[in-house]
Amino acid sequence: MNKYPKSAYVHIPFCHRRCFYCDFAVIPLGNKVETLQGYGSKTVREYLNFLYKEILSIKHKSPLSTIYVGGGTPSILDPKQIKELIDLFKENYGIDYGAEITMEVDPASFNQDDLYGFINAGINRFSLGVQSFNNQILQKSGRRHLREDAEKACLWLKKVYDSGQIKSWSLDLIQNLPLSGFKEWHEDLKKTMTFSPPHLSIYDLNIENGTVFKKLENLGKLKLPCDEEAFMNSELTHLILKTSGYSRYEISNYCLPGHQSRHNRVYWSGLGWWSFGQGSTSSPWGEKLTRPRVSKEYKEWVNRQYELNLDSSLINNDFVYKELDEKIMLGLRLKEGIDINELFKEQNWEIKKFESNFIKLLKGWERFLQSELLVRRGNRFFLSDPKGMELSNQILISMFKWWDEIN
Ligand code: SF4
Repeated sequence: MNKYPKSAYVHIPFCHRRCFYCDFAVIPLGNKVETLQGYGSKTVREYLNFLYKEILSIKHKSPLSTIYVGGGTPSILDPKQIKELIDLFKENYGIDYGAEITMEVDPASFNQDDLYGFINAGINRFSLGVQSFNNQILQKSGRRHLREDAEKACLWLKKVYDSGQIKSWSLDLIQNLPLSGFKEWHEDLKKTMTFSPPHLSIYDLNIENGTVFKKLENLGKLKLPCDEEAFMNSELTHLILKTSGYSRYEISNYCLPGHQSRHNRVYWSGLGWWSFGQGSTSSPWGEKLTRPRVSKEYKEWVNRQYELNLDSSLINNDFVYKELDEKIMLGLRLKEGIDINELFKEQNWEIKKFESNFIKLLKGWERFLQSELLVRRGNRFFLSDPKGMELSNQILISMFKWWDEIN
């Protein structure tokens, strides 16, 4: 374990408008945003000032090996603002040679000049939120971009990647959006493959409270692919990506060799990370700290930190282990799974307790091992792909039940 986290997440909450499935901490600014001057610039400047205050408030700054600028829509910002942010880290924390610096970009919010500006600012990995290449699906999901915007953005990213100007890029899709049946999903995957993105994130649609989709669902007006179709979509994803050379290294993430997201692996593997910005969650020493999701409260929180000379990183400066159930849950998301012996050892249980807890866990998992959703190799347990990865919830529910019972 590093003494200080080497990864930082930065939340840029601005979006043009809210997509119908999104419940993130975002500030919709409308269509006419001019972040340096003009419409929306005051709101953006003010937020950045608070964000910088928070970034500087950490007392024990040490060099970073991954930075992830996410949102919201960070590509709403001008390249000069992204440079200002990266320079702030450079000058105050230091950035390791070869660090991975990712930025999320939205197809309708940047042009090719902006892309070169972001690269000059120090970004070397992009994550492009395509979600679908089908205009009807995009429109039904409240996305602002069109297929043409997504295709253009993919070509620009492919070009800068092929010419060695960036280390990697990721294309994000959402599976099982309204109107996305087998045929439409197949088209989306085929289109995606034409750009050979080195990394792909494919999320299954979740209907979250407070979203337009939730309202439509409550009114019985949300038409999603049926279970059978959703299953066929998953099978197709598995087949196409596998035959195209992608490895599923995490439940929702696929990559070509050498292109795993180093930053995301920090979250899944239990290493600590800083985070900055409204609604974001940091975990420098194991315990999690979530900032207020609403702008006014976030700004008050930053002011308090600042005025009282507090340092959010010092709240938990004794390393607190993540609970075992969370470690198992996060570990099982990864292709390599978990070494149960190693995780149990960290609990410092005496031998008798160690063994009895292990036997109880195994009893709950027996049927998943038999049905080959879960695979065991010695002390290592991992989900089978695609069956186990698709049905991971059942295995996790059984594990959480076990955890409740033994505590
Ligand atoms: S662009 Fe992304 S963050 Fe913004 S509203 Fe849409 S899904 Fe949410």
